[in-house]
Amino acid sequence: MKRTIFDEDHDTFRESCRTFVHRTLRPNQEKHIANHELGREVWLELGRQGMLGMNVPAEYGGAGVNDLRFSLILAEELSRLAFAYSSCVGIHTNCVAPYLVDLGTAEQKQRWLPKFCTGELITALAMTEASGGSDLAALKSSAVRDGDDWILNGSKTFITNGACADLVLVAARTDPDKGAKGITLFAVEAGMAGFERGRKLDKVGQPEADTSELFFDEVRIPAVNVLGEIDHGFGYMMQRLVAERIGSAVNNIAHARQILDETLAYVKERRAFGTAIGSFQANKFVLAELLTMAEVTQAFVDQCTLAAVEGTLTAVDAAKAKWWSAKVQNDILDACVQLWGGYGYMNEYRVARAWADARVSRIWAGSNEIMKELIGRELGL
Ligand SMILES: Cc1cc2nc3c(=O)[nH]c(=O)nc-3n(C[C@H](O)[C@H](O)[C@H](O)COP(=O)(O)OP(=O)(O)OC[C@H]3O[C@@H](n4cnc5c(N)ncnc54)[C@H](O)[C@@H]3O)c2cc1C
Repeated sequence: MKRTIFDEDHDTFRESCRTFVHRTLRPNQEKHIANHELGREVWLELGRQGMLGMNVPAEYGGAGVNDLRFSLILAEELSRLAFAYSSCVGIHTNCVAPYLVDLGTAEQKQRWLPKFCTGELITALAMTEASGGSDLAALKSSAVRDGDDWILNGSKTFITNGACADLVLVAARTDPDKGAKGITLFAVEAGMAGFERGRKLDKVGQPEADTSELFFDEVRIPAVNVLGEIDHGFGYMMQRLVAERIGSAVNNIAHARQILDETLAYVKERRAFGTAIGSFQANKFVLAELLTMAEVTQAFVDQCTLAAVEGTLTAVDAAKAKWWSAKVQNDILDACVQLWGGYGYMNEYRVARAWADARVSRIWAGSNEIMKELIGRELGL
């Protein structure tokens, strides 16, 4: 089914993204896997191509295009090579950018956004702690006022871009008695005394991504690094999780669709019992189902994307898109592994890696259970 949410400018931008993936990422993918990170040169090239700051105002070095579709097109094209690329870049362009643009003071924007756009400043968003990620309001990292500064203590885990980030937005408790209403966002910079990174975590999939633990031991944060108002952090995160979740949904379906297309080509070539394996009715029916699932999901995700562009996407619809696309992605990739037979289980085949890469999409950015909880709350039950 033809997608109808893009115009010529989007198509031109997509071509540039494809060229970037082809020239800069694909030849270096094994290096990224070995190093468990993209490396600074990838970020700088993204910056040179003008791909990091599409939604950043022009006065701060961005393109000043208030159209989420551009960064989602980049995410789609990155997902098609490997899910980790859209995870790492998406945290920066889709997740962190809105915090800095919407909540930053003029001084903060001047300090961080120009380098954010050039790739000289890599960012991360640190909400999750070892004690739990779903119940964000219960987070334990704390910041206590000391004169004009704040003293941050605690730790975060599973943080995408955690090891390489130059600037990390950290959610910390600033009022122990106010639950969700006692959380503040702090911009923690590399090199601040007491800010240490743990190991790069050994994940089941997405080996290209740097996912790390972060530790804060008496880190002195100047007041000029507080983002937004004190104690308003939880609300800020909830508002921006809507965009994060539609971004996640876009990645999920692009990733699955790419491997499905590669699988369709494979089943036409691979032969058993004297014929192409795709021609067996059992497999043909599976592929018909997968293609239907992919296209129906794409249509819903595209509508949500348009609503996000217009500013009307609800948290509940974003939750639907996020959990459903994650399920469809995982179902499609599992079926694709089956169609590739033993090769589908070998890491040197893209389908095997994609299957492992995708598993986390039902867990992160709010697990599928939390998404259903959000939807369920609106049902008046
Ligand atoms: C590769 C990777 C990258 C990540 N990147 C980031 C990042 O950049 N920044 C960041 O802050 N976090 C990041 N995360 C963390 C991620 O968002 C959390 O893992 C996720 O929110 C779940 O939290 P948890 O792991 O603590 O699981 P828990 O909260 O302990 O949940 C465990 C299980 O219980 C279920 N559960 C919890 N509450 C309920 C409920 N009320 N009803 C039903 N079931 C429930 C969950 O759905 C889940 O299945 C990342 C995680 C991974 C794996």
